[in-house]
Amino acid sequence: MDGAIPITRPLLGEEECDAVVEALRSGWLTQGNRVAAFERAVADYVGARHAIACSSCTTALHLALHASGIGPGDEVIVPSMSFIASANSIRYVGATPVFADVEARTFNLDPVAAAEAITPRTRAILVVHQIGLPADLDGFRSLCARHGLLLLEDAACAIGAAHHGQRIGGERALACFSFHPRKVITTGEGGMITTCDDGLAARLRLLRQHAMSLSDQHRHASDKVLIEEYPEVGFNYRMTDLQAAVGIEQMKRLDGILVRRRHLAERYTRRLAGIPGIEPPFVPEYATPNYQSYAVRLADGFPLSRNDLMEFLLRRGIAARRGIMTSHRELAYQHQGRRLPITERASDQSLLLPLYPTMTEAEQDRVVAALEESHAARRVA
Ligand SMILES: *Cc1c(COP(=O)(O)O)cnc(C)c1O
Repeated sequence: MDGAIPITRPLLGEEECDAVVEALRSGWLTQGNRVAAFERAVADYVGARHAIACSSCTTALHLALHASGIGPGDEVIVPSMSFIASANSIRYVGATPVFADVEARTFNLDPVAAAEAITPRTRAILVVHQIGLPADLDGFRSLCARHGLLLLEDAACAIGAAHHGQRIGGERALACFSFHPRKVITTGEGGMITTCDDGLAARLRLLRQHAMSLSDQHRHASDKVLIEEYPEVGFNYRMTDLQAAVGIEQMKRLDGILVRRRHLAERYTRRLAGIPGIEPPFVPEYATPNYQSYAVRLADGFPLSRNDLMEFLLRRGIAARRGIMTSHRELAYQHQGRRLPITERASDQSLLLPLYPTMTEAEQDRVVAALEESHAARRVA
């Protein structure tokens, strides 16, 4: 049989290798000119005035909540059906994550369910553009405007995805992106906050570096001795210049990666249409997904359970993954005692298929053929 098909594989080349070596040789290793250039590239790409690099999307979310003044006694509405970092970031500031249900077809937070979860303590909604499919931002913007709530976007997976043709993280947004290797582009570890609010951007820049009043670049460029100050308690959430060097090269590849991911995703959807019981992802008319992941849903009558199907694929050298996790069923959040029927069904019935820019059509055909075969698997297995 041919080689194994992984769930994903980052697209990296000689350019990234050379850029890291050049950064190392420069002697400036952390949060310098390369971080600034990477921030500019991301801000310009998404259409935001500011981009603030952080060490991860998780630290970016923490910083964005902290700088927005969310704290103990506050509630933040968030989907349970997300990577657990979405909920955890709310805990870091001492606030309470309030889980609301998702839409059955998009797996994104449902504005109606979010509205029902609002209490006098609610301060913000943390909406997630899950696996790169934009959530219903029109619905959330008007809901937040009506109730005076902050709208924060967990755009960890969503770079290059668009809502009504506008890229996620642009105008009006306060959004956090991830550059973990599982995402569309990577810096190893890394995150970015985008905003058009000048004051907030300035505060985020201070807070990510111990709230230090002077930047290293500023002090380095000065011909006078400068003494910095620390007006409040900050954090060390810096990105290194080694990571940013990779990020700058990754940004040059982004459009090409998106073309390839969309081509393969649409091809999956066409090919899977012939297999009963496997539902392709639903895309609302307002959304242009980036297909950070390709999730299918198994219909009730599908002959194999989701986990047995994953096992069946693995025996054929194909790595699938369970669908998006639920946070409220993890031990860290079980004490809340939430029941979220749509979330639980969506999570239990879905799985992610391999998708990466260097995937060949022949590899994709092997995945489709294995899924076709899986119908007869109950007897074989
Ligand atoms: C990956 C992911 C994160 C965490 O990103 P890191 O950069 O690894 O901290 C947060 N939220 C969602 C929805 C994610 O998919």
